[in-house]
Amino acid sequence: MQTTIPQEKALRERTSGTYVVNEIFYSLQGEGKNAGTPMVFVRFSDCNLRCSLSNAGFDCDTEFMSGREMSLAEILQAAETLNPKKGWMLLTGGEPGLQLDDAFATAAQAAGWKLAVETNGTIPLPASIDWICVSPKSAEHTIRQHTADEVKYVRRHGMAIPTPTIKATHYLISPGFQSDGTVSLSDLEWCMKLIKENPDQWSLSVQYHKILNIR
Ligand code: SF4
Repeated sequence: MQTTIPQEKALRERTSGTYVVNEIFYSLQGEGKNAGTPMVFVRFSDCNLRCSLSNAGFDCDTEFMSGREMSLAEILQAAETLNPKKGWMLLTGGEPGLQLDDAFATAAQAAGWKLAVETNGTIPLPASIDWICVSPKSAEHTIRQHTADEVKYVRRHGMAIPTPTIKATHYLISPGFQSDGTVSLSDLEWCMKLIKENPDQWSLSVQYHKILNIR
């Protein structure tokens, strides 16, 4: 089942000029075409979809509700402390599109960061973002970010191949994780079957960080 109601912005009140940030840490990208690439992760708080078993068919496994207000300068300073050499900064959530604006993108890129975003696609992003990964969790007609570098769908056994409306360079299918943190063989084999039947467009993405239990 898919959610179909991502129109409203669900974010709490925040002080002008600040962003509500859940966590900032330095690690390696664990999935998608950039898997293995070092990135400073900035996790913004809150999400407009709030996927659950009842509205989306699965429970979101990311804690995105807690957070604290940080200024742009504080976020950039925290990122630079973690990786003085800069490089990639991954903006994730929750849904980063709720807070990410041109001011953030411009300042971060001027400071030397390349910006990657992981989004559910229901909110348009600043045009200057360097790498966009859309992972739709709602019906295609709710998608507002219509271009991406990669688009990634989670699939379980028996689910049809997606029919994306997003124009992307890479189209990825990822087997869903079970509540115990594993991928079932039947889900994996089903994803492989979909990809082998549609080899011109699709390839596999696995969430290595979950399998390896690292962050
Ligand atoms: S869109 Fe993503 S972050 Fe938001 S609730 Fe759904 S799974 Fe979680």
